[in-house]
Amino acid sequence: MKYVIVGAGVAGIQAARAIREQDQTGEILMISADVHVHSRCMLHKFISGERDEAGLDFTERDFFDKYRINWKKGLRVTAVLPDKKEIRLDSGETLSYDKLLLANGADSFIPPVGQLREASNVYGLRNLSDAQAIVKEAETAKRVLVIGSGLVGLDAAYGLIERGKKLTVVEMADRILPVQLDAHAAKAYEDLFEKAGVRFVLERKASEAVCQPDGKIHKVILDNGEEIPCDLIIVAAGVRSSLACLESSGIDCQRGVTVDSCMRTSAADVYAAGDVTALSGIWPNAADQGRIAGKNMCGLTARYTDTYAIKNTINFFGLVTLCVGRIQKEEGDQVYIREDQRQYKRILVKDGRVEGILFQGNIAGAGIWQYLIKNQIDVSGIDKDIFDINYGDFYQVGDRGKYEWAV
Ligand SMILES: Cc1cc2nc3c(=O)[nH]c(=O)nc-3n(C[C@H](O)[C@H](O)[C@H](O)COP(=O)(O)OP(=O)(O)OC[C@H]3O[C@@H](n4cnc5c(N)ncnc54)[C@H](O)[C@@H]3O)c2cc1C
Repeated sequence: MKYVIVGAGVAGIQAARAIREQDQTGEILMISADVHVHSRCMLHKFISGERDEAGLDFTERDFFDKYRINWKKGLRVTAVLPDKKEIRLDSGETLSYDKLLLANGADSFIPPVGQLREASNVYGLRNLSDAQAIVKEAETAKRVLVIGSGLVGLDAAYGLIERGKKLTVVEMADRILPVQLDAHAAKAYEDLFEKAGVRFVLERKASEAVCQPDGKIHKVILDNGEEIPCDLIIVAAGVRSSLACLESSGIDCQRGVTVDSCMRTSAADVYAAGDVTALSGIWPNAADQGRIAGKNMCGLTARYTDTYAIKNTINFFGLVTLCVGRIQKEEGDQVYIREDQRQYKRILVKDGRVEGILFQGNIAGAGIWQYLIKNQIDVSGIDKDIFDINYGDFYQVGDRGKYEWAV
């Protein structure tokens, strides 16, 4: 059996592990544009100079030998031909497969604002190669503009603070990390970043940016006319699944590659996992999907059932936050808040079910909340402060992690 995996991110790596655990003799070939296995969540540590390329690797040192994987790195798949069970590479090679996994992630999206797409000093932050280019540009750049204050934008800013840059972050929403946080939790991070010298411009969009004769943009104009001078621009305005190599493949795609719960695509023996599916966009889910795809590629039946809208642990300046489920308040929600000097906790309950938690400062004991959200357990009947719910309030049914209220 010949397994081919496109992508050496967490989805591809976890799939390869799962395949080797099931199939000791099959051939595993991994192909990636990346030349280093690296955690994208750690790229800010490379930008800050805290870690080198090797320090971003999230696999064991002998991973490829141990799992007997042939890794072709620095190569791009340019076409997938399911009818022939072949893929084409940018090297001109054509390779065959018995089972194929698409784990080729996503690309930064640079919006078509002015000449952002043409300028030589504008970068997304997705790959180690982006971080390397940003570090190089930062050697001479004094003023940095970050467009977007999601996790990626703030990671970029966080990394560059260490390099002593004058940083401005522009955000369309009324707070930073608008997907993950409410206004209160966001303010805690805003204060910490501002203390470190970052200036936030909220509720504003970039509306014009013109290249100068040196090919660079030296100021960006916002929608209120304000001009932000800059020598380096990092655009963190979202990602798009990497679908270019699938254009003439006939494989069903919408925002991402369409998959069923076994991670099968519309083409026989072709699977997809991770950000390329656009199901989630976060690391733990990409890892789960990769593992599940790998098992299914070996003939087992495993299903992906994680439906959390959000599941993030955030840590800037030592302030840790966990958000799971739904964060934005909706009509009919009961909102529970507990706050003291050490922590801020917010729980959203709708129709007796916990739909989202946001814990900042102290995230201990969060496992129970993830369980309640995932299994939609009715908490309306419990006669105690909701924040004091713990595993002791349940008894376990069977031995596979199922719980019911202990009454
Ligand atoms: C800066 C940053 C910070 C993040 N922080 C967090 C965080 O704190 N928490 C969290 O949960 N998630 C975070 N994420 C998201 C997380 O990193 C992704 O969800 C995860 O990396 C997705 O894994 P993946 O394997 O699907 O794709 P990727 O990690 O993107 O890997 C894709 C692989 O495919 C390869 N590839 C792409 N196209 C081709 C092609 N045509 N041919 C060959 N190879 C190709 C690439 O080289 C790469 O090896 C962050 C992402 C970024 C960029």
